[in-house]
Amino acid sequence: MIFFDIDHTLFDTDMYLESGFDRLNQMFSDLPLKNPTAIFVEIYENMRGVEVFHPKRFAHLVVEKLHLQKKKQSIIDVLEDQTLLDACIYSEVHDVFQSLAKQGVRIGIFSTGDKNLQQRKIYSLREFLNQKDIHIYPLKDKEISKVLKLYKNEKITFVDDRMQVLEEIFQHDSSLSTILIKRKKPTRDHPASNGFQPAQKINSLKKLPNIVR
Ligand SMILES: [Mg+2]
Repeated sequence: MIFFDIDHTLFDTDMYLESGFDRLNQMFSDLPLKNPTAIFVEIYENMRGVEVFHPKRFAHLVVEKLHLQKKKQSIIDVLEDQTLLDACIYSEVHDVFQSLAKQGVRIGIFSTGDKNLQQRKIYSLREFLNQKDIHIYPLKDKEISKVLKLYKNEKITFVDDRMQVLEEIFQHDSSLSTILIKRKKPTRDHPASNGFQPAQKINSLKKLPNIVR
């Protein structure tokens, strides 16, 4: 069984926000706004400081700030657009999932975020996923032991872009395998607080079928 994180692991969150905000920019192009993107980014960052990103809540905050109640649904439609969301799945993911499935490896999800939006992000991968193996929470770090209990006696691997999550998982059960995915070269190596190191560090999921056998 292999569990994947969603953001920055399966899903290019930077591309999603950039494209989404671009489209919103075009939508507001008839308004006398100097820099709408800066407004979106500010609202997004304030929101992420206290909660997970949520298109409906985001749309609400934008229309309040710009006094444009009528645009609320159009903003939500842009951010929940399935074509946009599908396009942000990293290019290798589909093939990798196919190979893993062929090898008989079960695939699950362990993600933080808004359940509805996260489910939409992985919609194009649904043929590889069982709903009962999809675990999405507002803050997954707090749910590790709950999820692990469901898979007792199974050989489990976790793939995540956050070292801290992998370290916490490892602290719950050191027999688990942890894989860190870093797509961009980090400017400096992550300091491991307790000497923790993931079993593998990779920069693309392409290597996974050879690692997980
Ligand atoms: Mg992530």
